[in-house]
Amino acid sequence: MRKPIIAGNWKLNKNIKETVELLEALKKELADIKDVDIAVCPVFTSLVDAAKAIEGSNIKLGAQNVYWEDSGAYTGEIAPAMLKEIGCTYVIIGHSERRTYFGESNETVNKKIKAALVHGLLPIMCIGERLEEREQGKTFAVLEDHLQGGLEGISADDMLKIIIAYEPVWAIGTGKTATPQQAQEAHKYIRDFLKKKYNEDIAAAVRIQYGGSVKPANISELMAQEDLDGALVGGASLKVDSFSQIVKGARK
Ligand code: PEP
Repeated sequence: MRKPIIAGNWKLNKNIKETVELLEALKKELADIKDVDIAVCPVFTSLVDAAKAIEGSNIKLGAQNVYWEDSGAYTGEIAPAMLKEIGCTYVIIGHSERRTYFGESNETVNKKIKAALVHGLLPIMCIGERLEEREQGKTFAVLEDHLQGGLEGISADDMLKIIIAYEPVWAIGTGKTATPQQAQEAHKYIRDFLKKKYNEDIAAAVRIQYGGSVKPANISELMAQEDLDGALVGGASLKVDSFSQIVKGARK
């Protein structure tokens, strides 16, 4: 039985004060939730204060990106151990915005996943097709490419520590959600890939989140799909009401 996981990707939003305010409200609203894992991923500069704000609660912390080197002449980058040091549990890797605007590739995603795992961070690896790729019938080919490249050289034991987020690029921040059937079809493809690359047990254990305009109104029908184990939430994670409702709606 896979425990659902809802993670909020705050992107480039909220300063420290706003971060702490939102977390204080979420802590109260979600205090009783034990059957869903909850994570928030604020901007780097808020992480230390966010860690203090959620201490002792059922909300865990994630970062939105990481670099693969431990230290050195890499201006502007943050190392995995530094995220671990300040209390991060998760790290989002390969979000489509990073692939599109910052040149991330399967190769960099793979290096980041390996580095995160070495330092005990749990990667949330994002994959997904663009609209034109879906329209050209290339959805599965893109998923295969992202999975092959991103998971190159990852052992079965390490695979159990990775969460995959299926995020169709055309659904991110557009208000256009994949239908539950479209999401399930992609999630099943991903689970079948894991079955082939690893084995049935690994495939059955790995959690696959859906991401792309998840809202309180659509979380239940998405979660009703067999291979959907939670959500990576952007816009709707920025408000206490919508994020709390999504977390509560994720209970299976
Ligand atoms: C995301 O940023 O991962 C995302 C899914 O955003 P949104 O929920 O706003 O579509």
